[in-house]
Amino acid sequence: MKIKIHNIGDELGPEKILLLRQPRIALEAIVVVDNVACGPAIGGVRMAPDLTIDEIYRLSRAMTLKNAAAGLPHGGAKAGIIADPACSYEQKEKLMRTFARMIRSVTEYIPGPDMGTNEECMAWVDDEIGRAAGLPRVLGGIPLDEIGATGFGVAVAAEVAATEAGIPLKESHLAIQGFGAVGRHAANFLGKRGAMLVAVSDSQGAIQNQNGLDVDALIKHKKEGSPVHTFSGGQAISRDELVGIKCDIWIPAARPDVLTENNVDQLKARLVIHGANIPATETAEQLMHKRGILNIPDFIANAGGVICAAVEFRGGSESQVMETIEEKIRTNTVEILERSKKENLLPREAAVKMACNRVKRAMAYRRT
Ligand code: NAD
Repeated sequence: MKIKIHNIGDELGPEKILLLRQPRIALEAIVVVDNVACGPAIGGVRMAPDLTIDEIYRLSRAMTLKNAAAGLPHGGAKAGIIADPACSYEQKEKLMRTFARMIRSVTEYIPGPDMGTNEECMAWVDDEIGRAAGLPRVLGGIPLDEIGATGFGVAVAAEVAATEAGIPLKESHLAIQGFGAVGRHAANFLGKRGAMLVAVSDSQGAIQNQNGLDVDALIKHKKEGSPVHTFSGGQAISRDELVGIKCDIWIPAARPDVLTENNVDQLKARLVIHGANIPATETAEQLMHKRGILNIPDFIANAGGVICAAVEFRGGSESQVMETIEEKIRTNTVEILERSKKENLLPREAAVKMACNRVKRAMAYRRT
């Protein structure tokens, strides 16, 4: 086995760690069901060659907190198939179908798509065991990246937090790192609320225009396969310069740990909305807090995707998805901002406390 067990676990979970192996087709997989007190756990199935139990456990805990914070009737879990996601189509189907059959009896876990898997993979899982979220549209799925579920939630969090930070959204300047599913939809939805996009980056470079970038034209440019820095409506800058760009709201929507103690002092924005997962190190978040830069943590701001999956799982419609995201992310952002002020906590600390309290209250109803 490639997988090693570390010292993991606390009073919340995990409840189950499953190591699955089917040598006939070279399947090795890890499933961690962290906590199901709030309901059956929803969490993605990741496919990558270098997954560890520790990583899957940490991701499963993040799902417990995200689902509880969003007030969903779902616990947290995550699964990992240790394989190359670029394997042949036939091998991928075999891996997904075999994986699904092996978790048939783990009915408290509802798999969804994640890095290296997609809607088609979920269709195979659903076909085998009748249980999956993030399905293709033809099977009743709601394509969350197409409708911009996460970017929409990020925009809602930004709207609430901008008021708290004293930034009039209609006159605000916005910079976004990453122009993929989360970043471009956040730009679009915030543009509709009056914010002006002044800088954006992707993996190949960045572009800025203090008079505003045309979001629709930039989305079209990107869809044609061109990187953002070649867009004619602005001036190309380096990816690293994006951190220090003059703006009010800065949205990381690409990679983890992009704001660190080494670059966070360059930030001019007064508000940072975490579209990506763990985009700032703990120290960077503390330094921002000291400088009065308001941060809305990832599992509050980027919960739109899992809210979409939960609504889809109950047979809800696309408009119900947007309404639910609006309502839940608005309420939660208000609540963590109030708690962080009242209890003198970082917004992330307030959010973790709120989510853990909800899980513990749900656990109290469970038979021991
Ligand atoms: P994506 O692959 O669609 O887009 C990622 C974007 O980031 C691309 O434009 C890419 O070019 C850019 N990028 C990559 N490296 C970069 C770098 N070093 N500097 C600047 N830009 C860079 O991915 P996505 O779905 O938009 O996800 C973005 C982040 O949000 C990830 O951290 C993901 O885990 C998180 N997230 C996504 C969702 C969702 O619903 N898609 C939900 C929750 C969290």
